Amino acid sequence: MTLTLKPRVRFAPSPTGFLHVGGARTALFNWLFAKHEDGTLLLRIEDTDVERNKPELVDGILVALRWLGIEWDEGPFFQSQRIEMYRAAAERILASGAGFACYCKPVAYAGGDAAEEHDGEGDDEGKAVKAVACPCRDLMPEQRAAKEKEGVPAAIRFRTPLTGTTHFEDAVFGPRDVQNAEIEDFVLLRSSGLPTYQLSVVVDDIDMRITHVIRGADHLSNTPKQVLIYNALGAAPPIFAHVPLILGPDRTRLSKRHGATSVGSYAEEGLLPEAFRNFLALLGWSSGNDTEFMRTNELIERFTLSGVSRTNAIFDRAKLEWFNTQYLQKPPVEELLPYVEAELKRAGLWKETWATTDRAWFAHTVDLIRSRTRLLGDFSGWARAFFADDFDYDPEARAKFWKDEKLPVLMLKLTDALEALPEWSHDACDAALRGVAASEGVKAGLLINATRVAIVGRAVAPPLFETMVAIGKDRVIARLRRALRAIPVR
Ligand code: GLU
Repeated sequence: MTLTLKPRVRFAPSPTGFLHVGGARTALFNWLFAKHEDGTLLLRIEDTDVERNKPELVDGILVALRWLGIEWDEGPFFQSQRIEMYRAAAERILASGAGFACYCKPVAYAGGDAAEEHDGEGDDEGKAVKAVACPCRDLMPEQRAAKEKEGVPAAIRFRTPLTGTTHFEDAVFGPRDVQNAEIEDFVLLRSSGLPTYQLSVVVDDIDMRITHVIRGADHLSNTPKQVLIYNALGAAPPIFAHVPLILGPDRTRLSKRHGATSVGSYAEEGLLPEAFRNFLALLGWSSGNDTEFMRTNELIERFTLSGVSRTNAIFDRAKLEWFNTQYLQKPPVEELLPYVEAELKRAGLWKETWATTDRAWFAHTVDLIRSRTRLLGDFSGWARAFFADDFDYDPEARAKFWKDEKLPVLMLKLTDALEALPEWSHDACDAALRGVAASEGVKAGLLINATRVAIVGRAVAPPLFETMVAIGKDRVIARLRRALRAIPVR
């Protein structure tokens, strides 16, 4: 009997900001990997940095993950509730000789690495930490005793070997060997008793039996330090998979300068979560062929770490909108209805009957409109007239299509012809309008364009006669009468 171990992965955000595009992409890759492998995804909130942490942001992160459809199987765990474990691990490393007590003042350490401050978290790639051994590593027992007696607060640092290399395998970047001489004696436990990121992340990944660490390439430079900690704690390191950075169109790291980066702002803007998922999935991963539009089940089916690229990904806003348009238009309309319902509720336009007796009308109308939408807000925006009687005329459409001097007469005749129709259908409306145009000697297009502005307020809308059927006879007639009062008489 073979026992196959199912992968266990984690998403570990620090609540120092909103969930942004990079974090969401990391979460998504972990989730897709877990789903593909039938593994487990944990959520861990890395909130030990009391200075930078904002507890009130945790809820927003959970909401954004749920909006994205990313469900975790275990957690959320909070590192702030696990401090004792990190302390115990630091003490173990100290006792084993792989760590040492450091009495340096925060600024007394060459290279400006303060014992209290340097924890190596986040964006320290390229900062070129000057490899340096802390002078405290070689203190004689009596010197230590003296410091202790003076009551100098001590941090615990890792005693990085002065020679040799630290090796790890990265599923994306390949095997890596880092000279130990380039790794400083980094802090494990600050003198305040709080752990650094390097320590807490390793202690948790061991305790939570994480098999694959999938995270941003900005953490690549932290990995050798973490491997040293694994070794010191007698645990086997997991498989690492560092995913490439996301850059803005100007090839600098994606930031607020490039526009909205928080997931919440995309939700508010009216993007569909599945479109956003598809877009995010392709930031640094590809399925191996040119397919771009992939429903979530296809992403799950195809996602493997071997498809993750080493090349930085470029965030392309136009592409995101393209995906959104695809997801508004391609899937069965039923899938879209809950989103449109939410959007109409948000805009105060929702009527309960659309969920019950008028469900078929609602589905048909959404289907009619959706080929011209880009964002969910379009349903309450330019398409408002399908759902509400109070709508404005677009000034440009009005100026362009309501200027013919014959219009008041034409529209009056059209209104009468429509009112007299025994049945209200696409063909009947079509015939009535063309009949009026022919008998008045004008092109049908003139009346079609003017009528469209009258009943939906816009120049661009779905085909007119289908629109008339969707809006219904009584409302069309009422809107034509209202337009008659608004059309300038020359
Ligand atoms: N908390 C870290 C961050 O938000 C992630 C740590 C990790 O994945 O190892 O960048």
